Amino acid sequence: MSKIRILSDHVANQIAAGEVVERPASVVKELVENSLDAGAKRISIDIEGGGVRLIRISDNGSGMDEDDVLLSIERHATSKLREEKDLSAIATLGFRGEALPSIGSVAKMTILSRPENADVGTRAEMTYGRLTKIHQDGCARGTLIEIRSLFGNVPARKKFLKTRRTELFHIEEAVRNQALAHPQVEFFLHTDGRQTLHFPKARDLEERFRQVYHYQDMLLTVRSQDTPESTKLVQGFLLPPESPEARTARLRLLVNNRSVRDRMIAHAVREGLHGFLMKGRQPAGVLLLKLPRDQVDINVHPAKQEIKFRAPQEIHQAVSEAVQLAIADYQHQLKSDLFVVPNQSQPQKTQVESFSRPGDGYQQNVSVDSEPVRYSPKNFPPVAAEKNPHVYQRELHIGEAPVNEDKPSFTGLTLIGQCFDLYLFFEKNDELVVIDQHAAHERIIYEQLRRAYFKDKITSQILLFPKTIELSREEGEIFAQYQETIATMGFGVEHFGDDTYVIKAVPALLGHVQADKLLNDILEGFKTGKKRTGKDALAALLDDQLASMACKAAVKSGNRLAPQEMIGLLEQMRESSSFSHCPHGRPVMKTFTRDELKKWFYRT
Ligand code: ADP
Ligand code: MG
Repeated sequence: MSKIRILSDHVANQIAAGEVVERPASVVKELVENSLDAGAKRISIDIEGGGVRLIRISDNGSGMDEDDVLLSIERHATSKLREEKDLSAIATLGFRGEALPSIGSVAKMTILSRPENADVGTRAEMTYGRLTKIHQDGCARGTLIEIRSLFGNVPARKKFLKTRRTELFHIEEAVRNQALAHPQVEFFLHTDGRQTLHFPKARDLEERFRQVYHYQDMLLTVRSQDTPESTKLVQGFLLPPESPEARTARLRLLVNNRSVRDRMIAHAVREGLHGFLMKGRQPAGVLLLKLPRDQVDINVHPAKQEIKFRAPQEIHQAVSEAVQLAIADYQHQLKSDLFVVPNQSQPQKTQVESFSRPGDGYQQNVSVDSEPVRYSPKNFPPVAAEKNPHVYQRELHIGEAPVNEDKPSFTGLTLIGQCFDLYLFFEKNDELVVIDQHAAHERIIYEQLRRAYFKDKITSQILLFPKTIELSREEGEIFAQYQETIATMGFGVEHFGDDTYVIKAVPALLGHVQADKLLNDILEGFKTGKKRTGKDALAALLDDQLASMACKAAVKSGNRLAPQEMIGLLEQMRESSSFSHCPHGRPVMKTFTRDELKKWFYRT
């Protein structure tokens, strides 16, 4: 007699349930997907006891007649797929015909459903996989499914569930994911009788995004260039990387309206945000990919939470480019918010002119209104400047703001002053703008260095006294390997013989840094960076090197600035293509509104 046996449907369903029904949230996901596939415009979810006691989902979708209700609980029964070829172009969320029978095999399930053209509905009741009742029953058009005593017959499974709160969190996440994928559908979630989520029908993804993330401020809008030939459409919204909300929120991915996990796409988003995301922080928001159906295989995971792309490289690139575009747009938006004066007809005079006119004293023209003087030369002791009027300029390379009487109100920002030798304070209409001088300058220089590097080479400064340096054998090898890059970075170094090298020129912006130390750091950077692998390893390494050069060249925390230098920095921010974050992703500025300040002082 043969040892091999064909499993009964009941056992097969329980095995499938092991994959499909991991926890209450998976039941919610499967049932909501069924409602969406049935064309529901309103889906209401009730949860009791963390989903173990009760999950009830009702929808106003197409409903089922008695025959279909009976079939729906059969294994491998689906209305969404007929032939093998349909598998390569699945347009529905479900297709495996597994969810209802699997869920039904590990819970007590009631289905109540009525299609539009029927006068009466059907009620079916199942207990752990056995149909116990089926009869006609009155009900609204659509479907209501109740799942009670989840895992009641598989205690081992139940033991693996986490606390009620954790399970509720996963359920809410599942609802949020589906809600983002279907903005036009209204969702309700009630837990233990209390409404915990409600997303009214939204106009578009942005409106739904704001409902889900409770976020009203400026967003990064991701949108790939939508040409007629383009087959990949990337869309979405990201929270500004520095926003406090982004710390706890997640990145969600929707591929052809299906919520999925995919590390490759998450990586592409991080790459697109390179230089704007702090180390250790994750991007947050929602990204939506529309691809031709034959470009994705969704049949690789029983709960369909993972997918496979036909051309992952292309998608990676499309996503990271779209995110880069979003960052560029965001810079643009920030810039026009910061520097454009709303009331153009009466341009406000800024203090640029007065600051740059020697002998004027800082007090004059400083305040726009008649309030007491906000600072005096005492607060800005031009110590170094007195000894040498060009010292800031030379050491810090901050250009002074040009004196131009024809250019009234070039920023709309009024300088208040510098604080802790690091933060610059400006007043702008109804906002207080605080700028981190080092972070701001670092980004500006980094952008300049990058542009120079890729256009031709970074400008060098010939050293008056060439500097001799000894390199170890390893350093010598690294130098030989990266010689060209190092030259493009603005260094002039020659091998003198044996271990001896002569530095004849350094990047002009770094003229004030000790030349041998500078070269050592660069070689060290190449040494550690060499360990990186991957296609873009060299680009990433170079970015790091340029960022570290920018850091050295930028004004530091602790550098006292003259007012014209502060204004000069602002002017450079306005000219720079990117300015909002330092190359390591730290934010450059923070604004406080008048209303926020008022609230601090209970002036409401
Ligand atoms: P699948 O979704 O993969 O087809 P399911 O087991 O989830 O498999 O559902 C089986 C079938 O039951 C579906 O194909 C669909 O025809 C029907 N069905 C399930 N839920 C609903 C619903 N809420 N409204 C209408 N029909 C439904
Ligand atoms: Mg389904």
